[in-house]
Amino acid sequence: MLIHCLGTTGFHPSPTRHTACYYLPEWSLVLDAGTGMFRLIERLLAEPRESLDILLSHAHLDHIVGLTFLVDALAVTSLKNIRLFGEQEKLAAVRTHLYNELIFPVKPSMEFVPLPGSSGTLALGEIELCWFPLEHPGGSIGYIVQASGKKLAYVTDTVARPDASYVSLIQSADLLMHECYFGDEHQALGEKTGHSWLSGVTQIVEKTQPKQTLLIHINPLAEILGCEFTLSPHQTADLQMVVAQDGMQIEF
Ligand SMILES: [Zn+2]
Ligand SMILES: [Zn+2]
Repeated sequence: MLIHCLGTTGFHPSPTRHTACYYLPEWSLVLDAGTGMFRLIERLLAEPRESLDILLSHAHLDHIVGLTFLVDALAVTSLKNIRLFGEQEKLAAVRTHLYNELIFPVKPSMEFVPLPGSSGTLALGEIELCWFPLEHPGGSIGYIVQASGKKLAYVTDTVARPDASYVSLIQSADLLMHECYFGDEHQALGEKTGHSWLSGVTQIVEKTQPKQTLLIHINPLAEILGCEFTLSPHQTADLQMVVAQDGMQIEF
């Protein structure tokens, strides 16, 4: 299974990263719709398809602004059918605010599919989808996607606590995508703002034993200030942890 990293930061773009967006062509699935969404057009031109499902973790701007870019994708690629999945109140916020004509005048054609409640399961064709609540201001949800014998866990915009309720769900994933906004020097800021730091995520990786871990939603300011965290040999070699970069393609 292949995943394209279209946008690997959060909050705002950095010199090398756009905000949250990941594409799984074999499942016709997009995770979040940040500014990295514009890179999807190139992928769809290279490998045309008519339908796409987008899973929203929540409706903060860095995860939804790229929904407006779909106007371009619908105009110049073979894409026709888009389904947008997320919590009901988050989809309502997108419809009311993002697609308010004073903010963005042309609503791209798409079907809104509210997920019932903050946790549950749903069959999307061959894909088994599970979602669960995360600790974040305004709330966020994580996803487990299972199909073709593969298990993907997508956990972004949350505080990495080894005793968090979601930890038992993500056990033994083929690929864990976990946000890691901060290095350990900013743990207190992470707890305050609803984000994760490196040692917290590492503890979760040690506990849940994924085959690979992609650290995502990396702080854009750290790149601008030249103080990005680096991984230890234990994290890279023993735990198979990788810091996501835009343009990266991961096989799992
Ligand atoms: Zn975010
Ligand atoms: Zn957020």
